[in-house]
Amino acid sequence: MNNIFPELLGNIAIKDLCGKDIKAGKHSHAYIIDGPEGSGKHTAAKQIAMAILCRNKNGENPLPCGFCPSCSKVSSGYSTDVQYVNRGATATFQVETIRNMLSSVSYLPDDGDYKVYIIEEAEKMTTQAQNSLLLTLEEPPAHVIFILLTSDSGSLLETIRSRAHTLKTELLSAPLILENLMARRNKGLINERNDEKLKVAASAASGSLGVAIDLCDKTDTSPVLKYRDIAEKLTDTLIFSSTADSVNFCRGIDFKRAECEQILFYAMTAVRDYIAVKNGSRNTLFFTDADLAYSKAVKVTAPRLLSLYNQLEEAQDHICRKNASISTVFCTLAANARKENR
Ligand SMILES: [Zn+2]
Repeated sequence: MNNIFPELLGNIAIKDLCGKDIKAGKHSHAYIIDGPEGSGKHTAAKQIAMAILCRNKNGENPLPCGFCPSCSKVSSGYSTDVQYVNRGATATFQVETIRNMLSSVSYLPDDGDYKVYIIEEAEKMTTQAQNSLLLTLEEPPAHVIFILLTSDSGSLLETIRSRAHTLKTELLSAPLILENLMARRNKGLINERNDEKLKVAASAASGSLGVAIDLCDKTDTSPVLKYRDIAEKLTDTLIFSSTADSVNFCRGIDFKRAECEQILFYAMTAVRDYIAVKNGSRNTLFFTDADLAYSKAVKVTAPRLLSLYNQLEEAQDHICRKNASISTVFCTLAANARKENR
């Protein structure tokens, strides 16, 4: 599978389903790429566009090959056959933007056999905009392919969803991100020499390679390291220590609201990892070492972990959206952490 969509890390299902179809010369005229922020939606769309337009689809080359004139143009953003469409400065995707895009679909491609329209944040399309797109989706010109990127395909009209092939992108595991960061460093793409900093970046990125790369470029990752460290200690104290010790630990948490939000987010990611490894997954987002996560996770029951995850989420909600007192929120968390299924 390594030679299909080589720029797209992980996401085996997409490579398997979509890549094989394109290699066989079959592809859909509309794709919905649905996944959380940072899960590779843009990379997947670009790889699909490159693969469809690639001049080297046969043989042992990777798909896309990455070096033919078509791949080079799409990769560098200079292909006129691949158009990115976004909502611009408006909060929602207006029907005028879609109409404007559709006005060009009847023109033949400039270089290749297809024109690919990549619609970003498709969930922001107004109903009117979606209906306008639907008219063309029902009978698209043979040379047109639409790729809709969204973090919530459920908000698209059922009539659009039924006419497109939905592909789900997934967040990447911390070990996979770490492996990629190391490989990038070997190619000279990342300057950071300190292995520990790469580990911090991989585990603080919560599944997004882009975020991890940005963190590697930062000269000072110490705040991230600090929040991550406190999150791990908080999680372990809430799980393994007495209520009194948890309350003591939580009383010592003295951070600003945005920092608490970050700490609670990391704590939720750590608990999410414990649940995942208990279920046999190796895809940890917070821990770069899945074995370490497993060695801790086996000591606690799944219902307690689920309950703790919900409590952390609730605490985050109180701090971020309800402007609650930070010390009260953490003390409540400590007092309730040993209870299951509240
Ligand atoms: Zn190519």
